[in-house]
Amino acid sequence: MKSANPPERFDLAVVGAGIVGLGVALAGVRRGLRVVVIDRDAQANGASVRNFGFITVTGQDHRTMWARARRTRDIWAEVAPAAGIPILQQGLWMLARRLESLGVLEAFLETEMAEGCRLLTPAEARRRCPALSAPGMLAALESTIELRVESREAIPRLASWLTEYHDITFVRSTAVLGIDLPLLHTSRGELHADRVAVCPGDDFNTLYSERLRAYPVTRCKLQMLRLASPGFMLPAVLMSDLGLARYAGYATLDAATPLKDRLASEQPEHLKHGIHLIVVQSADGSLVVGDSHHYAVTPDPFSSDAVDALILEEFRSALGIMPPPILERWIGTYATATDRPVLVDAPHPHVRIAMVTSGAGASTGFAVGEEVIASLLEGGGAP
Ligand SMILES: Cc1cc2nc3c(=O)[nH]c(=O)nc-3n(C[C@H](O)[C@H](O)[C@H](O)COP(=O)(O)OP(=O)(O)OC[C@H]3O[C@@H](n4cnc5c(N)ncnc54)[C@H](O)[C@@H]3O)c2cc1C
Repeated sequence: MKSANPPERFDLAVVGAGIVGLGVALAGVRRGLRVVVIDRDAQANGASVRNFGFITVTGQDHRTMWARARRTRDIWAEVAPAAGIPILQQGLWMLARRLESLGVLEAFLETEMAEGCRLLTPAEARRRCPALSAPGMLAALESTIELRVESREAIPRLASWLTEYHDITFVRSTAVLGIDLPLLHTSRGELHADRVAVCPGDDFNTLYSERLRAYPVTRCKLQMLRLASPGFMLPAVLMSDLGLARYAGYATLDAATPLKDRLASEQPEHLKHGIHLIVVQSADGSLVVGDSHHYAVTPDPFSSDAVDALILEEFRSALGIMPPPILERWIGTYATATDRPVLVDAPHPHVRIAMVTSGAGASTGFAVGEEVIASLLEGGGAP
């Protein structure tokens, strides 16, 4: 970056220090590359620090995301202790309170994706967590594989570990404005690299905008809440009936049709705002609760109280407890595409654009990183 001296040359430049960029950087350094990561923000500020930190395997789309999620989960399990990132929760309980939901869970248990999952009876669930009254619960699907990290702490720690342990250079507060290999033109001068991975999150307009225009991509806005501790520790991450109609691993099963029909008549407002319930818990007992899904090229930045109320209504119905006081509210956005859950494009033999276009980057980012590096090193088009 210094103009007086011959510029430093890297094997790989990664644009974007969110989880996808960090996943590519880790995969690159593990293949022996000298890596620089460039981000326009001073610290992580995108979807990767606004999410639940929920590394979900169960319920991912079987064809496209399930294997990626399993691989990513295993890398988190290996990297988190090395990088000093606490795993705060392990496992998932899908609370079913409709007969139609039970039908989905039973059908799911017949699939390959149910490895490590079983049904809990209400009595067993209440024995394991007496404070979770969940009055309407008919059963809960328990999966033991999921992990949960506190993203706002985990992402900075992961970046520090990549610097300290893997000698990756981070260049912050620097926007990459154009790529003309081996040159990267940035807001702070030029940088040299043999290969580039562009991992811009939901920015479709700065780099390769012409190229990205060919894809059906847009942005999704989500509302999130942090609630005070309910006074007890959850047995796992919690989800409800609405999640069974949304997550492809359940929702694409034939058995999900009756549930979707019932939800359409009983919870149309929830469906209209793309609401499903995820409840995760932090080290201090507080809960991160969400979320909603609204789609727009430029989503508005405002958090709607009516949408929060719908999320909290589902919380109350599924868990059977009054929502504790709200401590924080925020919104996040991510890239989404109507035709693919992950977008990897090759605008040049030595450049890849990589986006997780389905809101599952924490759950699949490390696997996507490995795919991008394999594609860059082994040649050919995008994976
Ligand atoms: C509210 C919310 C909840 C979610 N919950 C989950 C969850 O629990 N589990 C899960 O798996 N996924 C979840 N997701 C999705 C997940 O967070 C995203 O898929 C993932 O974070 C995307 O990572 P990213 O690295 O692509 O993007 P980002 O984290 O947005 O990072 C992109 C980075 O690129 C930088 N950048 C872009 N263009 C340039 C440029 N030209 N020059 C320099 N820097 C640039 C930006 O500054 C940014 O730091 C959630 C998302 C949201 C918003």
